[in-house]
Amino acid sequence: MAFTLRERQMLGLQGLLPPKVETQDIQALRFHKNLAKMNDPLEKYIYIMGIQERNEKLFYRILQDDIERLMPIVYTPTVGLACSQYGHIFRRPKGLFISISDRFIQYFHARFTWTYLQFKAVVVTDGERILGLGDLGVYGMGIPVGKLCLYTACAGIRPDKCLPVCIDVGTDNPDLLKDPFYMGLYQNRDRSQRYDDLIDEFMEAIIDRYGQNTLIQFEDFGNHNAFRFLRKYREKYCTFNDDIQGTASVALAGLLAAQKAISKPVTEHKVLFLGAGEAALGIANLIVMAMVETGISAEEAYKKIWMFDKYGLLIQGREQKVDANQEPFTHQAPDQVPKTFVDAVNVLQPSAIIGVAGAGRLFTHDVIKAMGSINERPIIFALSNPTVKAECTAEDAYTLTEGRCLFASGSPFEQVKLSDGRSFKPGQGNNAYIFPGVALAVILSGIRHISDKVFLEAAKALTEQLTDEELAHGRLYPPLSNIREVSLYIAVKVMEFMYANNMAFQYPEPADKNRFIRSKIWSNEYESFLPDLYDWPESTLKKH
Ligand code: NAP
Ligand code: MN
Repeated sequence: MAFTLRERQMLGLQGLLPPKVETQDIQALRFHKNLAKMNDPLEKYIYIMGIQERNEKLFYRILQDDIERLMPIVYTPTVGLACSQYGHIFRRPKGLFISISDRFIQYFHARFTWTYLQFKAVVVTDGERILGLGDLGVYGMGIPVGKLCLYTACAGIRPDKCLPVCIDVGTDNPDLLKDPFYMGLYQNRDRSQRYDDLIDEFMEAIIDRYGQNTLIQFEDFGNHNAFRFLRKYREKYCTFNDDIQGTASVALAGLLAAQKAISKPVTEHKVLFLGAGEAALGIANLIVMAMVETGISAEEAYKKIWMFDKYGLLIQGREQKVDANQEPFTHQAPDQVPKTFVDAVNVLQPSAIIGVAGAGRLFTHDVIKAMGSINERPIIFALSNPTVKAECTAEDAYTLTEGRCLFASGSPFEQVKLSDGRSFKPGQGNNAYIFPGVALAVILSGIRHISDKVFLEAAKALTEQLTDEELAHGRLYPPLSNIREVSLYIAVKVMEFMYANNMAFQYPEPADKNRFIRSKIWSNEYESFLPDLYDWPESTLKKH
């Protein structure tokens, strides 16, 4: 409907469209009106993703108009619901599906003769740990699709350069194996050498086809594989694991902001994690890095971080296994070994608790109250997604600490109003603040490997964007409505860092990185379909 009269004539569209020429503004208005009539989040998801199929520019225009309200639909929490119902709400396939039953390399080349497509960024999952929802197998495709929507909406990365991938090696989810609408292989997860070989082949095929610099983001892999693959591939490809590194960055940014709010240096914090998996270890290691940067030793820094998992506190000599990643955070048992998480809070007296267990409301009223009595300004992060998995609600955190806590959650919560009239808008400690800006900088700088330092820089850049006023209101992250500017700022800072540290290989180095980045971002305005018409000089057309 937005084709101009000339375009309609040129493209032979007259008669196929209603006569009026519509602006994108009117199209966006129609969308917002229709969306306002819907109550069911899943219905909204289907409607919005349908627009992505039909009119990509309009889709991103709409997202950008109202990112704060729409992000919870295309991303957490609704995307979690959409994944769990993927086969039931299916309309059209999107992304690249690779199954372990295919002979891979040949298949990849035969199938993907999309020679006109040249991807720069890939987000890949094998569906084993989708948000905090567990193994969703091939239904997990919603996550790479949603993440890449944010690449474009938040950082202006061209959508035609982004490839979502789901690798299907089966699922151990018994419900899905019985689900008539399930869309993957009806088999248990292949955990043999064949799985490793498949991922190896996949990595090779991607760079073979799209180049060594192609960014490959790992997303929602199971814990064991996530760490293994990160270690295996980080020096070989341009790759990062968002659940480990992106999460680390956003959580550290929150902690740095909290430190500003209460004027307590990061080295004086004692942090207790609930959960000791990908997110917890990623965050903990980045906190250590930030502490070391301020001058203390890594040994000292490790001592300030404790972890509590399904079996209790990580302490030396405990019966249940502690893996190599967890070892530095496994300490000598306190005199009185805490049995429950609230015991651990009381014994260790942490200044911050960070929930990344994906196991629901484990920051009980007692836990929150204990934090409130130990600390003047307790730091409470309930980062597990989606909302039902958050360790506590924003309301509980603020009311039970009389508004003193510094709170952040992975999925959004509504504003909380206390009985004394004060109100708090909780910040969303979600890696969506980090990965789009980092990805943009990586793509534009031509870097070969992504070091943890990049995520430390990104965290600092995110914290810098919090105004004193926002901080005074207890906000730890800039408003989501601002995420586009926030992401571009992070991209500029990260790009400066990469060039300064000889990691960037894109030449010539742009002198003004801010201007360079802005000149590269994708616009959601419609392009003209009319060719540029011009004439040759008359005199050159006749013989003399
Ligand atoms: P993970 O690697 O599987 O780690 C989960 C950890 O929690 C494991 O150490 C697990 O112990 C522990 N745990 C499970 N149930 C527990 C319980 N009842 N009590 C105490 N600990 C328990 O998963 P992950 O990647 O770290 O993700 C965890 C959560 O963080 C998910 O909900 C995810 O959505 C969220 N997350 C949020 C963000 C964000 O940006 N906000 C980013 C990434 C992840 P065992 O190993 O013994 O089972
Ligand atoms: Mn994730």
